[in-house]
Amino acid sequence: MSHTAEIIAVGTELLLGNIVNTNARDISQALSAVGVNVFWHTVVGDNPARLRDALDIARKRADVIITTGGLGPTYDDLTKQTICETFGKPLVLHRDILDGIRVFFEKNVHMKMPSNNVQQAELPEGCTVFDNPVGTAPGCAFEAGGVHVLMLPGPPFEMLTMLRRCALPYLRGLSSEVIVSHDIMTFGLGESPMEELLREKMSHMENPSLATYAKPSEVRLRATAKAASQAEAEAMLAPVVKEVTAFLGDYVYGIDIPGLENACMALLKERGRTFATAESCTGGRVAERITALPGASAVYRGGVVSYWTSVKADVLGVPRETLDTYGAVSEQTAKAMAEGARRITGADIAVSVTGVAGPDPDERGVPVGIVYIGLATPEGTFCRPCDFGRRRRDRIQDLSSNHAFDVLRRYLTGLPILLP
Ligand code: ATP
Ligand code: MG
Repeated sequence: MSHTAEIIAVGTELLLGNIVNTNARDISQALSAVGVNVFWHTVVGDNPARLRDALDIARKRADVIITTGGLGPTYDDLTKQTICETFGKPLVLHRDILDGIRVFFEKNVHMKMPSNNVQQAELPEGCTVFDNPVGTAPGCAFEAGGVHVLMLPGPPFEMLTMLRRCALPYLRGLSSEVIVSHDIMTFGLGESPMEELLREKMSHMENPSLATYAKPSEVRLRATAKAASQAEAEAMLAPVVKEVTAFLGDYVYGIDIPGLENACMALLKERGRTFATAESCTGGRVAERITALPGASAVYRGGVVSYWTSVKADVLGVPRETLDTYGAVSEQTAKAMAEGARRITGADIAVSVTGVAGPDPDERGVPVGIVYIGLATPEGTFCRPCDFGRRRRDRIQDLSSNHAFDVLRRYLTGLPILLP
């Protein structure tokens, strides 16, 4: 049987918009992997009466309630008391937890435990205690009238640690089902063409199921199977992943990897090649994404952010004539930038980006969204022209860096660098 969950985030700061409810997002993401369906997100302030109302609504429609926030020692931390009142559970003092909190203070804060921290050692009678190795407030879970209530702290790092170590195992224990997913990562095909292509396959698939999640110019296809064991779920997924991957062909850049830069990094390592960058409108986004990966130094030599025409000419050696004749945003300049980056860094391959991120057209009247990706290689220099249309500046920058990595990936896998 699958469970239905409601996440209740407690905190006036959330309602005021001072902080974003990232805990609800993180809990939801984690719960989908243990077969718990999250049907509601609720946010309520630090107010016992309204929290009580929220709990009364939640217990009627969900059989798993997860709260986050309000477990601390201060006067506004009322989650635990209110939950216990609502569900008729007395709070009892746990001596071992109290000792733990005392030790935490002495070791980490170098002070004696303040007296108001005592209430953190009080937990609902008969609950499962969730240790907090990175903070003081423990969490817990109990069952009352067929509803499981789990309490997690508010600070995201504490919440995540407890979620992984305690809450997920607790939830897994409620169900005899295992849920396994694999992500098929694709680039170059929009979400609707993708859905159209896969409509027939997707519509009659329930277990395993197939769902699409779109990012700028990328689509993640998630295949999910429910079964009695991990091995059984994997066996159900393998043919689906294989079939869909074969069907989508060159659009697929990897399975279960986070992004295009990861695919490029693996390909460069495999082939023992290095690359460099010359970026204009992306201002170093390509460089930033590759250097965010550990081990980037094995494949990435460096790059130039050549924003001014003079830097394109004087640092990268783009001929003045090219810049004067075709402009800074042109196929010719993109190619010359890539060649320059390749020459000055000594890398095997160089990728360049030049374009108009907006909001205004460039001085030659090239419209917003026109971007050229250059690629210099031992086999010659290539270019992918892109037209992203009028979009937000940061969107155009993200798309451009995605295309830069896709050009690199396609070259490294021996595919034509132009999208089909
Ligand atoms: P503490 O012991 O720190 O008081 P707590 O469990 O009582 O922990 P809160 O007081 O509700 O938690 O929140 C502490 C901090 O955690 C907030 O100031 C905020 O920075 C962060 N936080 C709380 N709830 C959320 C949430 N839903 N999403 C993201 N961050 C949150
Ligand atoms: Mg608090």
